[in-house]
Amino acid sequence: MTQRYLDVQGLSETDKQDKKRTRFVVLSDTHNRHNELEIPDGDVLLHCGDFTTQGLLHHVVSFNKFLGRLPHQYKVVIPGNHERWPDFIRPLLSNCHFLCDDQIEINGIKIYGSRWKPRISSLSAHYRNAKRTFQDVPTNTHILMTHQPGKGISTLCGQEGNQAITDRVLEIKPLVHICGHEHDCAGHYQNNGITFIKAAIIDGHRTGPLRPPYFFDIYL
Ligand SMILES: [Zn+2]
Repeated sequence: MTQRYLDVQGLSETDKQDKKRTRFVVLSDTHNRHNELEIPDGDVLLHCGDFTTQGLLHHVVSFNKFLGRLPHQYKVVIPGNHERWPDFIRPLLSNCHFLCDDQIEINGIKIYGSRWKPRISSLSAHYRNAKRTFQDVPTNTHILMTHQPGKGISTLCGQEGNQAITDRVLEIKPLVHICGHEHDCAGHYQNNGITFIKAAIIDGHRTGPLRPPYFFDIYL
C-alpha cells in the first residue's frame, strides 16, 4: 500500500532547523477494517471517526486493541455518525484521547476534536446549532478534526458539507482541517494556508478498496 505525505507548512530546510518535528498519521472511516491497514510510522495517530459500524461494542473493543498495538506515542480519535453514543463507548477507548468538543495539546500543537452533530429539525436550525457549537473551537487551533466536511470549502465533491464548519475554519485558519464521512470523494486540497484533508480510508462501499493513510509533519 503506498503512502501519502503532505507538506502543510512549506518550510525550507533552514526554517526547520531548531524546530521540533511532530509527525501525524491520518485515518478516518475505517469501519472496522483497521487491521487490514498498513500504518505509516509517526508520533501521533489521528482518527476522524466511523471506526466502527453502528458503534457495535465488539468493534469498539477491536479498535481499541488495534490502537494499543500501534507504536505511535499519542492517538487522538473523534466519533463519527456511526459512534452515535460517544459517552457510552468512551470507557472502552483506553488507548486514545477521545475528543468530543475538546482540545488537546501535543508538543505545543493544539488539536481540537469535534463531536458529531446529528441533524436536527430543519437545515437552518441545524446550521444555527452547529454555528453556536463551532464558535467554541479556539482560535489558536493548529489541527481541527471534524467528522463532517465543511460545505463548499474545496473542489472535492460531496453534498454532506456543513456551512458552519466552513465559516469557523475560514475565521480561525488552522494549519490543517481533517474530516471524513464522504467515502466517495476523499482527497486533499490546499488553500488560504490551510490544508484540507478528506481522509476516508474506505473508498466507496464499506466492502470496497482501502486508500492509504495521509501523513504530515508540523515543525514548532
Ligand atoms: Zn463512514
